[in-house]
Parts: sequence; C-alpha cells; structure tokens
Amino acid sequence: MRVLFVSSEVYPLAKSGGLADVSWALPAALARLGVDVRLLIPGYPQALDKIAGKHIQTDLGDLLGAENARLIAGRLPGADLPVWLVDVPELFRREGGLYQDADGRDWPDNAIRFAALSHAGARLGLGIPEIGWQPDIIHVNDWHTGLLPLILAASTGPRPATLLTIHNMAFQGNFPAGIMPHLGIPGQRLHPESLADGLEFHGQISFLKAGIRYSDRLATVSPTYAKEILSPEFGFGFEGLLQHRAKDLTGILNGVDYGIWDPINDLYLPRAYGPGTVSDKKISKAKLQEELRLPIVPDVPVIAFMSRLAHQKMVDIVLEALPWIAGQAVQFVLLGEGDRDVENAFREMAHAHPEKIAVRIGYEEPLAHRLLAGADILLAPSRFEPCGLTHLYAARYGTLPIVRRTGGLADTVIDSSRQTIKNQSATGFVFDDATITDMITCLQSALSLYSEPLAWRRIQLQAMKQDFGWATSAQQYLTLYQSLTAQDKTIVRESDDLIFAQSVGQVAIGGD
Ligand code: ADP
Repeated sequence: MRVLFVSSEVYPLAKSGGLADVSWALPAALARLGVDVRLLIPGYPQALDKIAGKHIQTDLGDLLGAENARLIAGRLPGADLPVWLVDVPELFRREGGLYQDADGRDWPDNAIRFAALSHAGARLGLGIPEIGWQPDIIHVNDWHTGLLPLILAASTGPRPATLLTIHNMAFQGNFPAGIMPHLGIPGQRLHPESLADGLEFHGQISFLKAGIRYSDRLATVSPTYAKEILSPEFGFGFEGLLQHRAKDLTGILNGVDYGIWDPINDLYLPRAYGPGTVSDKKISKAKLQEELRLPIVPDVPVIAFMSRLAHQKMVDIVLEALPWIAGQAVQFVLLGEGDRDVENAFREMAHAHPEKIAVRIGYEEPLAHRLLAGADILLAPSRFEPCGLTHLYAARYGTLPIVRRTGGLADTVIDSSRQTIKNQSATGFVFDDATITDMITCLQSALSLYSEPLAWRRIQLQAMKQDFGWATSAQQYLTLYQSLTAQDKTIVRESDDLIFAQSVGQVAIGGD
C-alpha cells in the first residue's frame, strides 16, 4: 500500500496547530503498520532548514506560472519518514506565518499557493517518471489540499484513489470567483456545469467544497464531529453537500503521539513523572510559576488556557470570566496567540492582577509542555471542536481538562460526578452551553474537587492511564485505504445535475 499524505503543515517542519501534529503522527503510525507512506508539504523556509538529508528530487518546471518549481526530497526528523517539499520560492519562501503575514493578514496569494501544492501532489499521483513511485491512495487534508481530488478527477489515465480528512469545517479556503482561470484546472475534462457547481459557494469558489465533492471518501477527526457537520450549526454551509455524501463519510478519532506528549519521557520538564510518581508533578508546577513570575505556592490550583485565540475557542467567554477567576484562590496562565484585540485584553488582565494571572503571547513549543505539566486544570472550552488535542495531552500529564460537550471533546472526556469518581471512569469536567454561567459553574465544581485531594488524585490517575495512542485510529485509516483500493472499479455517482461513471485506476468522466 503506497500512500501520499498531503498537508499544509507537519510537525516539526512547520506547525500552526493540531493539523501539524496529526500529519506527523498518523503517517508514522501507518508506517508502523507496513504502509509505504510519503509526505508532501510546501517548501516553507523553516521546513527547508529542518528537513533531514535534503536533496533536489526533480524539477517541476512551470507550476501555475511559477518557473523553476522543484521537488526537494528528504526525511522527517524524528519520524524518519520520506517527505517532499514543493519548493516554489516566490510562493513559499517568505517570512511570517504559514497562512498569514506577521500582522495576521492572510497572504493575498493563498489560492495560488495552495493550488500549486495540489498540482504538485496531482503530478506525483499521476506518476513522475524519474521518481518511479506512484501512490495507490492520496490522502489530502483540509481546504489547502481540496483542489487535488478535483485535479485528479479531471485528469486522463489511471489515477490513485483520494481521501479527504476534514480537520475543521470553519476553514474553507473561499476566494473570489475571478481567481478561477488562474488555478490551472483542466476544465475541459469535466462537465462545465459540474465543475462550476463543484467549486461554487455563495458566489465565491471554495477549495474545501472541491475536496468534499471530488474525493472518493471523506473522513473527519471524531465520531461526534462526523455527525455534527451534517447539521447547519456545524456544517458552515456544507451540511447539504455532506448529507449527500454521508455514506462516504467516517469519523476517526485523532490520536496522541506519546513519544512526544508524555511526562514520563518529556525532556522539557524539570523532572519526569508518571502515574506512579504523580507527586513529582509539583516540581513542574513550581517551575511554571517561576517561569511565568507568579508566586511559587504549591497548594493554589493553576488553571491553564493554551490555544489559538479564536472565537471557536470561546476566548470571549474566558475573558469575560477572568474577573471572577481573579477573585478566587487560583492562578491563571495563558499561552496563546491570535486575535490582536484579544491578546491585548489578556495582557491588560495580567497587568491588573500580576499575582494571579500570567499571560504569554506567542507560540512556544517547550513552554507548551511545561504548561501542561505544571498546571492542575486545563480550560479547553470550544464552541465547536472537531477533535482537540491539547486536552488529550493534558490528561496524560494529570492536568484535568474542563471542556464543552461538543465534537471530539464530547467523545473523550468523562465528567466527574460522585458516581463516575467512584466507578473510576471520571477523567475531567464537562459543561453543556457556551455561556459564562455554565463555564463558571463547571470551574466551581472542579475547584471544589481540587480541595479533596483523594478524589482529585483518583481522577488524575484515571485520566493519565487512558490510551489515546494512534494504533487504533491508524488501523481504521488503513482499513479505509484497503476498502478504497479494493472497491469495484466503477463507481457510479449521482448528483442533482449529472451522472458520471468514474473508475478508480481508469478514470473516464463523462461530459466533455
Ligand atoms: P487547533 O488545531 O484547533 O488549534 P488542537 O487542540 O487540535 O487545536 O491542537 C493545538 C496544537 O497546538 C497542540 O499541539 C497544542 O499543544 C499546540 N498549541 C496551541 N497553542 C500553542 C502555543 N501558543 N504555543 C505552543 N503550542 C501551542
């Protein structure tokens, strides 16, 4: 089984969030199951710096008008997986974020940048003679790679099957329709109406829609989110299309790479600890308090919030709750970046309550580990959460998560009640409504249990011994790949406006 895994980010080469963690850990777990998996990501400067064994694989020539495009080959440091970087200096070699400039504005050429990534992936999929490796499956991720299944569907000749994993419906890659002629889509192979319908979204074009429409199969990152996105509240306008493709959609829970996220072997911590040595967690707590210049007190609960500062993560409600939190016998620590106004509002709160609140704006991998180890409680509320990883990491560090009952959070945290503590199933705290009242009520129950050390320790141990490792989920992906390569060569799809026959391996799309 040969799989090309295409993503806009992968740890440790380039990371903005959970997608990078999944793009690292899932291919590594698949490789352990015997899959020949290779990665393709953009040639960002940091990725070109960090990739191991870097060499030029081949020239790609003209890629969407950018000349001198190249494929750089190497290995993913740490995971030792083959990785290709799409090196197009004018599109990817720039200072700033992966998707935005230093001021937080989207790069104006994002449509071209990620269309170029998709074209490079499609060329690999169709076979580049001097490489001599062609995938059976192309596994694409999120809107950045949404055009790839469309480009393949529009191509002639044998092609690999495609699977799109949706990590977040809120990011859709919508662009003005005028960009369409610049995306290099070979429209003549597709029925013009079907092509327009496959991309059009409220007068714009949508890369995510193209992925949903043209991928052979769809996955998302938790069973609950797979159901939620069929409804208007979570489908963000795509619920109709997703309902239409519901039989091709699976929810597979993301996993945790415990090689990276486990206090027993975490080199960023002052002292390792595990379920048998939880009392050593206090050393990490003191270190965190010292690092963030808070009073070093062992018995005051430390509540951590580590997240993109976005509406999705309920940052507005957390800010609204901060005056109440500052009135309790607690410390609150934040590590995050995002909305500039939100960043400033958090800074002001820290300024007003230096003994209680510490705020670190930025993206810092080592501090992220120390924060998960040093805190007692991780506040991880979300309006919607496809899977969420931070709360799964926190659980392994014995830091109890407070989450909202949505998406992957609902699938992975069991609320602590007298009964769940007694029967040893409690792993955190769960509330229902995205309101300050519900969140504070939940915080109050957590703080009240914190004052019962025996009960707290019981929940901690239960949380720490859970196994959210990748083995089960990677096996589910492998089964999905196998069903794709084994499936009947001719799939007949019906849609409202067209019926076309499509053969995996021998594509023939009607309409031209
Ligand atoms: P999302 O992908 O929606 O941002 P997830 O919980 O799935 O949220 O993944 C977030 C990832 O980003 C985790 O690996 C978390 O540790 C990391 N992270 C989030 N904010 C920061 C930060 N400010 N500094 C370092 N790591 C961060």
